[in-house]
Amino acid sequence: MSDLDQKIIAFDLWHLSLPVTSRRDHGIGTIEGAFDVIVLRLTAEDGSEGWGEASPWAPFTGSPEASFAALDRYIRPHVVGQLVAGSAAIMDTARRAVAHATEAKAALESALFDLQGRILGAPVWALLGGKCRNEIPLSVSIANPDFDADKELMERIAEDGVGIVKLKTGFRDQAFDLLRLEYIRKNHPKFDIRIDYNQGLHPHNAVQKVQEAANFQPTFIEQPVAAHHFQLMKDIRAAIDVPLLADESVFGPEDMVRAIQERICDGVSVKVMKSGGMTRGQTVARIAAAAGMSAYGGDMFETGLAHLAGTHMIAATPEITLGCEFYHARYHLTEDILADPFPCQGGAVQIPDGPGLGYVPDVDKLEHYKRTP
Ligand code: MG
Repeated sequence: MSDLDQKIIAFDLWHLSLPVTSRRDHGIGTIEGAFDVIVLRLTAEDGSEGWGEASPWAPFTGSPEASFAALDRYIRPHVVGQLVAGSAAIMDTARRAVAHATEAKAALESALFDLQGRILGAPVWALLGGKCRNEIPLSVSIANPDFDADKELMERIAEDGVGIVKLKTGFRDQAFDLLRLEYIRKNHPKFDIRIDYNQGLHPHNAVQKVQEAANFQPTFIEQPVAAHHFQLMKDIRAAIDVPLLADESVFGPEDMVRAIQERICDGVSVKVMKSGGMTRGQTVARIAAAAGMSAYGGDMFETGLAHLAGTHMIAATPEITLGCEFYHARYHLTEDILADPFPCQGGAVQIPDGPGLGYVPDVDKLEHYKRTP
């Protein structure tokens, strides 16, 4: 009998509301004051634990209440009493038990792999195929409507060695976007600049606006228009000479296939929360790579716990070459929930080598930030 042939005996959930240090405007949505996540803990018969996080955002992927209900009511019965070894079967059942709710399924897969890793003494990246890198270049998003505050943030991250910024555009007006682009190019010539509209542009003059932004030669431009505007994405791609990335247009592997067939992008932002887990995220990246497209490690509004799932996925996925944006734990949350700081040094996320995810949440913090109805 293997150590994995033991049952999962407990399934605990926390709905957290976590204060943030600054407002973030992302195209069609805004975060102010706090964001919510759901944390899942699985416990095996020998007391080993596995952790996962669902990080939904209502205007993009769904509500925290939906993630909580998906886990608590529809997924829990298919997990408790099952063997730790059977994670693939558990995930398959969970996917059939409730439609959508990709963040809930991402939390479940993270917790299952963390649990297996703890029991086997192996990092999650080893369970995902082994490691192809020891660190991931970190991108920090410039998304504060108060640009003076973002100017200070850019000084701070430059001192920390961060070399990539992603300018969030399309939430106010074109003049504000071009002014910020000009400022960053002039004052931070070393920064690798990326642009992300988060679906923020109206179709009417989207092509022209993106062309003007493309004149600054960013490394890529992400999702200028609504997720379902596939033809417009294709038109924009044809009108610019920098790579166009799909984010909200591509959740899972099925969307990636369609994006390739309809040639709407040159690359994709892979997110554990959109794809419904690390393994499906790997599949998205590999389908993209097979079609000659690039892949980037995106995230939602996450704590260090969800960042870790993304970190292990990218560690084991050579096709994701454009870095990651796991900056919330260090630069956005007032306090992260991990017991030790999320591993980030010299402008890069460091891949943990310890068992499981390599870090655990501080349960006192989970209790402290638990949302009270
Ligand atoms: Mg994006």
